[in-house]
Amino acid sequence: MSPIELNKRQEEILRIVKGNGPITGEQIADRLHLTRATLRPDLAILTMAGFLDARPRVGYFYSGKKPGQDISDTMNNMKVKDFQSIPVVVREDVSVYDAISQMFLDDVGTLFVVDKNSLLTGVLSRKDLLRTSLGNQDLSAIPVHIIMTRMPNITYCVKNESLIQAAHRLINQQIDALPVVDEQPEGFKVIGRLTKTNITRAFLSLSESHEL
Ligand code: ADP
Repeated sequence: MSPIELNKRQEEILRIVKGNGPITGEQIADRLHLTRATLRPDLAILTMAGFLDARPRVGYFYSGKKPGQDISDTMNNMKVKDFQSIPVVVREDVSVYDAISQMFLDDVGTLFVVDKNSLLTGVLSRKDLLRTSLGNQDLSAIPVHIIMTRMPNITYCVKNESLIQAAHRLINQQIDALPVVDEQPEGFKVIGRLTKTNITRAFLSLSESHEL
């Protein structure tokens, strides 16, 4: 069993919650002049490791428990929603040229394609766009739905799924990103993006919160 070692930010969060709990993630973020999204991995680690308890609509409070959680328990408790990023989506009729611009603009490696009802229809990777660019064609005349990988061949995950399961899917399918979807009767709404970078960040936060 590894004793847990907290990083500076996690210690600061603990101090704030001890002094002010119950307190919402939003309020903790305000005090640290950070966004809620930046704090999400730290709050997840502190909760999973047993330092904090979280109650819906109440907030975080100090559990007072001595953390005795093994690193494998922490890993098994990591959820997609704690580490996912904001998705970048384009419509099916957008041109390959505009999709490439979008990729640079938003600094992402994978774009998700949606129809007019905002439902997931495809995925565009860097190499999908590069391959088309090699063809010497007019990129502003080719809509992305011609070149994308399309449903139902999209590998995805859901927000409450374990991060380990999603990581398996990334490796097994040899892809860089999964859309995080909300499964609705009419199709999938894209609510997040889970990439290899998110998995690397989770890996690092584990090393920061456990003495390895
Ligand atoms: P790259 O092609 O830039 O190496 P990927 O490895 O992510 O990036 O993509 C490889 C291929 O798999 C591409 O054709 C892409 O459209 C497809 N792809 C990427 N992500 C997914 C996904 N979540 N589900 C299904 N296919 C995907």
